Formats: sequence, structure tokens, C-alpha cells
Amino acid sequence: MATSRARLWQQLMQLSPICSGSLHEQYLTCGKASCRCHDRKEPQLHGPYYLWRRHIAGKQVNRTLRAGPELERVRAGIDNYHKLQELLGDWLVQEENQVLEGRRGVVSWGKKNFKRSLPRR
Ligand SMILES: [Zn+2]
Repeated sequence: MATSRARLWQQLMQLSPICSGSLHEQYLTCGKASCRCHDRKEPQLHGPYYLWRRHIAGKQVNRTLRAGPELERVRAGIDNYHKLQELLGDWLVQEENQVLEGRRGVVSWGKKNFKRSLPRR
């Protein structure tokens, strides 16, 4: 268990950048009425732009990004965040299993005994 924990820690430390939230591709119209994006038959919208949507302290925060290194860092960060959550999930299972092993005695108690042992109000 100790070695797998150390390996897990190593994997966690290698995750960078880390970004929460999600990316959404967007095509937009502009304010110029004469622009090709407002063509009635074949509108050619502007884009793609990328909306990075995340939550900070419970509030939704949006950032619009263009294709480029910044977008790629955010994309990599979101992938890493999903890996982080998987690793934490594995870790949680390991830790919970240890907790149960250490207190196996509790499981062998009968339900009746457990009820009787509760303090009366
Ligand atoms: Zn336009």
C-alpha cells in the first residue's frame, strides 16, 4: 500500500497544467449588418472561438479563447484535471479499504448488540 501511495503521489505531482471546467467551440455573428456573417442564405460565421467555462467559488466564469498556445494549455489542463479526479478516486478507494480493515471488529457486531449499546436519551 505504501508503494502505491508513493507512486500515486508522483503521478499527481506530474499533472501540470491543471484546469477545471470545460471548453466549447463557438461561431459568432458580429455587429456589422453588412458582414458575411449576417448573409441570409449562407451566413459565414466568425470563429471558431473557444469558450472556457468554469466555476470559481460557486460562480460560473467564462473566458473566450482563440486557437493557439493558450487554448492548448487549457485543453491539456482540462485533460489533466480529469486524470487528477481518476487518481483521487483510486486513492480514495485504497484509503477507504484501509479504514475498513482497521475496524473489521465493528462489522462482526450484531445489529441487536449495536442498538443496545447506544446511550439512552
Ligand atoms: Zn461578421
